[in-house]
Amino acid sequence: MKNLKKMVSTALAAIMITAGLALPSYASDTNEIVPYAALCPECGTGEMIKQPTEYGSWFIVGSIRCTHGDIWATDEIQQRTVTTVYTCNFCGSSDVTVTTEERIVHHG
Ligand SMILES: [Zn+2]
Ligand SMILES: [Zn+2]
Repeated sequence: MKNLKKMVSTALAAIMITAGLALPSYASDTNEIVPYAALCPECGTGEMIKQPTEYGSWFIVGSIRCTHGDIWATDEIQQRTVTTVYTCNFCGSSDVTVTTEERIVHHG
C-alpha cells in the first residue's frame, strides 16, 4: 500500500507539472494514469478539476432470477445516477456528466 501511495503522489506531481506548462495531458503519453486533466474549453486557460462524485439513491428497475444459486429467490436490479462534475480552476465553468450505475441485490 505504501508503494501505491507513492505512485499516486507521483501522479499528482505530474498533474501539477502539466498544469504549470499548460499542456493538455493527452499531449504526453508518459501520463497515462492521469484520469482527466483537460484544458477548459471555455477559456482555454484553466484546467478542468474533478469535483467529488455525487451519487443518487438506489432505485429498483427490475428483478431477475437469483444470481447467487438460490433457484427459488429473486434478485433486484437497482440503479443509481453518478454525477461527475469538472470545474475550471480559472473561469469556473463546469462540465457535468451523468452516468448510471447498476447493481444486483439479493432479495429472496
Ligand atoms: Zn475556464
Ligand atoms: Zn440472489
